[in-house]
Amino acid sequence: MQSIKSEFPIFENARKEGRSLIFLDNASTTQKPQCVIDAISGFYTGYYANVGRGLYWPATIASASYDQSREKVRAFIGASSKKEVVFTSGTTDAVNKVVNSFLLPQLEQGDEVLVSEMEHHSNFVPWQQACQSKGAQLKVIPLDAELNLDLSELASMLTDNVKILAITAISNTLGVKNDLKKIIKLAHQHNVKVFVDAAQLPLSEKIDVQEMDCDFLAFSGHKVFGPTGIGVLYGKQGLFDKMSPLAYGGGMVQQVSVDKTIMADLPSKHEAGTPNIAGAIGLAAAIDFVNSVGVEEIGRHSAELRKYAVECLSEIEGLTLLAKDAEGTAILSFTVEGIHPHDIAAFLAEKGIAVRAGHHCTHPLIQKLDIAGTVRISFSIYNSEEEVDLLKNTLDEIRSFFL
Ligand code: PLP
Repeated sequence: MQSIKSEFPIFENARKEGRSLIFLDNASTTQKPQCVIDAISGFYTGYYANVGRGLYWPATIASASYDQSREKVRAFIGASSKKEVVFTSGTTDAVNKVVNSFLLPQLEQGDEVLVSEMEHHSNFVPWQQACQSKGAQLKVIPLDAELNLDLSELASMLTDNVKILAITAISNTLGVKNDLKKIIKLAHQHNVKVFVDAAQLPLSEKIDVQEMDCDFLAFSGHKVFGPTGIGVLYGKQGLFDKMSPLAYGGGMVQQVSVDKTIMADLPSKHEAGTPNIAGAIGLAAAIDFVNSVGVEEIGRHSAELRKYAVECLSEIEGLTLLAKDAEGTAILSFTVEGIHPHDIAAFLAEKGIAVRAGHHCTHPLIQKLDIAGTVRISFSIYNSEEEVDLLKNTLDEIRSFFL
């Protein structure tokens, strides 16, 4: 993987500056390959203009590039039409938009919304607040002893009152992967729509929204080697058609008069204002990069590193791995008896090892586990077994320093 790592300039720049950087915080965000950086600067330096308006050449090239970016995303997630792909600023923005445009207009007192105990706050708080504003009930699907979603509990919670099930594809804290096809099938048997938080999914396995049959799905560009400030909301065309616009403004209308506005067709109807053009172009370059390496290869490499880390870290006395048998993901959390996760992260940071410590925006999960937080490591294509070895040795050092 050394040749792939060289495509990410931060590592060579760090080396030149004499800094060590072992980046094990990929669940938070991923580093950027040169091709993504070049695509963004190429837009600003070569053909910068707004999209969908001008007839002059930079505007036509920018418009075509923005449209091609949407097509790249469509193919990346297996959607049947570009009408089902709306650009957002990220996963959080996408959740809020579905809450506001899909859920709230139909939500009434006594209705229910289902989320799970492992949700990121982004896929928890917006649903919770919507329920509280309408006197509806947020119901939380529990995890079983192995920290997997309890499917029998889910089955018993799917009633006629449920308006939507919002579920993560992969827990950003535990690295547990949910069986989405099974969950969605179950929900649909009860006519319940499903929103999939796919923030951690795109580098783990090939997404196919048609095969999955989800109603909505969202992910963030910055977690797939793309820029910050760009994300994707997929929605089935029938649902996007029926929903009122996700926001109002320029670019999403066909005709406006003093009395009335006729909305534009999909997907423009759901994208008000000047979009994040550079972000979309950068995301398209990131998708090209991911495809050139192969999602399966990235997913396999990261999952093998997780497995290797489980083996290595299991040898450390007093270290507890969470959901250690989870398969096919890049994320691994642990605690060390007698040492606070933040102290571990601070010590590792001193050595140039980037990990995350704390609650990982999953307070309900951390409360259920009754712990102060975890140390989380998360892998990507540029990480190696040597880096895991170094982590293990540094954790040994930390134990002898603190205990
Ligand atoms: N959902 C999950 C599972 C995540 O891991 C994250 C980010 O860590 C989010 C949602 C929120 O993503 P963003 O901050 O890019 O909107």
